[in-house]
Amino acid sequence: MMDYPKVNQEVCAGCAICAEVCPFDTIEIKDEKARIIETNCGNCRACASICPMSAIQ
Ligand code: SF4
Ligand code: SF4
Repeated sequence: MMDYPKVNQEVCAGCAICAEVCPFDTIEIKDEKARIIETNCGNCRACASICPMSAIQ
């Protein structure tokens, strides 16, 4: 099973930088929190690398 990145909802600031860089366009921002749609995720880790809060692990 693939180990997709997870967003720590308590740390996420809702800045949407992760959604902008995601090449699979699979991060939604809802109620100022990021959510990864795992079925579309390519597991490239670009979101985790760029998050200024280190909220994605
Ligand atoms: S880049 Fe990080 S802080 Fe910004 S919305 Fe994405 S997960 Fe949240
Ligand atoms: S790992 Fe890559 S494809 Fe998956 S949500 Fe993050 S940026 Fe998008």
